[in-house]
Amino acid sequence: MYIEDQLAEIREKIAAAEKKSGRPAGCVSLLAVSKTFPVSDIMHAYNDGQRLFGENRLQEAMEKMPVMPPDCEWHLIGPLQRNKVRKALEHGFALIEAVDSRKLAEAISRIAGELGVTARILIEVNVDGEESKHGFTPDALSAEWEALVALPHVEIRGLMCIPAPTADPEAARPAFATLRRLAEELRARGPLPLPELSMGMSHDYAVAVEEGATIVRVGSAIFGKRTYA
Ligand SMILES: *Cc1c(COP(=O)(O)O)cnc(C)c1O
Repeated sequence: MYIEDQLAEIREKIAAAEKKSGRPAGCVSLLAVSKTFPVSDIMHAYNDGQRLFGENRLQEAMEKMPVMPPDCEWHLIGPLQRNKVRKALEHGFALIEAVDSRKLAEAISRIAGELGVTARILIEVNVDGEESKHGFTPDALSAEWEALVALPHVEIRGLMCIPAPTADPEAARPAFATLRRLAEELRARGPLPLPELSMGMSHDYAVAVEEGATIVRVGSAIFGKRTYA
């Protein structure tokens, strides 16, 4: 079966990259990005032991989450509009990965406070510095860090990035290294341990693991080519 074979190969490659870079075995989580794929496909991955899934659209995630077994863990990896924060928090994502502005982080904290929860988030960094892209530039994040850390109802677990697509996986290495160094700087400023670095997708996750990823977000390499309706 295709999905099981792909998962086996990816798990092997992650393990090899962990070993190659002297990292502990099992330190990287594979997030299976199931966007556009039906629950029947996601169940194949589930039956093969996969529990961590990522969706980039809230509406689609909300349709899939209730029909999948309850021991799945879900990450929201796509952009989140501020007027959908309440819905997202009510749906119990383990992690909201793409928090790309201070305004969004503030809205999440405020609404999490109203709901009596602490929202776990990652901060999205625009590592390429392209104006058109989502996320904090490294300079902006550095400047706003204290304000973000002070938000009472969010727990910033780390950083994520979506570098510009490149044909050669090696070309993404500098972007991954930039994200890792930025996390190191912010860790040094304290007080957050920032354990998570979410980086690397189907074509470059092995490079991301070598550069310190703790979460790799892999979709098409598991489930096949996406077709958008
Ligand atoms: C779709 C998506 C992925 C997975 O992309 P693949 O190339 O299919 O592995 C990873 N991260 C984000 C934010 C995505 O939207």
